[in-house]
Amino acid sequence: MDAAPEQIVNCGGQLIMSLADIGWDSFFDHHFEPFRQAGWLPARVAREHRELYDVRLDEGELAARVSGRMRHLAQSRSDFPTVGDWVAVEPRPEDGDATIHALLPRKSRFCRKVAALRTEEQVVAANIDTVFLVTGLDANFNLRRIERYLTVARESGAEPVVVLNKVDLCPEPDPLIDEAGTVAAGAPVCAISAATGQGLDALRPYVGAGSTAALLGSSGVGKTTIINSLTGRDALKTGEVRQADGRGRHVTTWKELIELPGAGVIIDTPGMRELQLWGDGDGLRGSFEEIEDLAGRCRFRDCRHEKEPGCAVKEALEQGSLDADRYKSYLKLRRELAYLSVRKDQRARFNERTRLKQIAKWSRQREKHHPKARFQG
Ligand code: GDP
Ligand code: ZN
Repeated sequence: MDAAPEQIVNCGGQLIMSLADIGWDSFFDHHFEPFRQAGWLPARVAREHRELYDVRLDEGELAARVSGRMRHLAQSRSDFPTVGDWVAVEPRPEDGDATIHALLPRKSRFCRKVAALRTEEQVVAANIDTVFLVTGLDANFNLRRIERYLTVARESGAEPVVVLNKVDLCPEPDPLIDEAGTVAAGAPVCAISAATGQGLDALRPYVGAGSTAALLGSSGVGKTTIINSLTGRDALKTGEVRQADGRGRHVTTWKELIELPGAGVIIDTPGMRELQLWGDGDGLRGSFEEIEDLAGRCRFRDCRHEKEPGCAVKEALEQGSLDADRYKSYLKLRRELAYLSVRKDQRARFNERTRLKQIAKWSRQREKHHPKARFQG
C-alpha cells in the first residue's frame, strides 16, 4: 500500500517520525537560529563510528563527517558530537552524505573517563530526559548499586527512574520495592517483568512523543528485553548484541538511537553500558539527602564526617539512626568524586594554558605573513 503523499517514507519503506517526535523542541530551535540562517539543517546523531556519524534529518538518515573548521576549533573530545546530540548539518544528498558544522548545547550528558590513567571526559550519550536504572529482583538486587546509578544519573542532568525487573522471579517483591524506595530519594520506583509484560505500562509515560530515554544497569538485568518490549519487535537480540565483521572486529549491529513506534526514542550505546562514575559531586548530594541534612548540624561547616568533634553524622551512626552501609557507600563515592574533580580542574587549567599559547603563536605567524593584520579589527 502506498503512503499518503505528505507522509515521509524512508528507503526501507517505513514511515518516519518528525524531528519533534524524536526530541527536537524550542530549546534546540532557539540555539539553532544562527545555523538556520547559514542554510544548514538540524539533525540528531543516531550512531557514532570512529570518524563517521549516522545523522537523522527530518527526511531520513545520512552519513556525516565533522567539518575541518569544527575539528580545528574543538578543545576536547566533548566538543565532538555523540549519540543523542543535535547538530547543524549541510546535506549533500547527491553524494548520500553530509557535513556536520556545529554542535548544539546539550540538555544532559552522560560521561565517562576515557581510560584509567586519563581523566579527559568522554560524552557517551547526550540529551537524555529519563534514565531507567535497571536492577533485577533476583540475586542482582543491591541497594548500593542502585545508589551508585542514581549518583551517575543525577550528575548527567537526566531524571532517574528506578526499574526493578524480573518481578516474575521474586515471590515476595514488596519488601525489596520498599527498600529501593528508601534509597531512591524521590525518584519513581517501578517493579516490572520485561519477560511477561507485567508493570511495563508504568514506563510508557517516560518514552512518549519527543522524549529520550536510556537504560543503565549491569549485564543480564534485562535492558535489551525491556527495549524489545517497548519497541514491540525484536529490534535487538538479547544476549548477542554484537557480532564480528569480516576483519574480526566487533561492530554494532543495531541503531543506537532507537525510534519507538509512535514517538520517542531510546538510546542504547556500548558507552552507556560501560559507564563509569564521573562528575562534580552534585549527584552525591541528591542521592544521600539524609546525610547532607545531618551535615547541616555538624559543628564545622567543612566537616568531613570522619574524625571531627561535634559531627552529627558520626553521632547518628553511633545511635543507629543512620545506616552504616549508607555511610560507607557515601564515603566511597565521595572519595571517587573528589579524586576526579581535582584531576578535572587541573586538566582544564592545562587546556587553557595550551590554548593561550596556540593563540599567541598564531598571531605571531599572522603578523609575520600579514604585517598589517594587527591593525585591523
Ligand atoms: P541485558 O544484558 O541487560 O540487556 O539483559 P537481557 O535483556 O539480555 O536479559 C538477560 C536474560 O534475562 C535473558 O535471558 C532474558 O530473557 C532474561 N530476562 C529479561 N527480563 C526478564 C524478566 O522480566 N523475567 C525473567 N524471568 N527473565 C528476564
Ligand atoms: Zn560531620
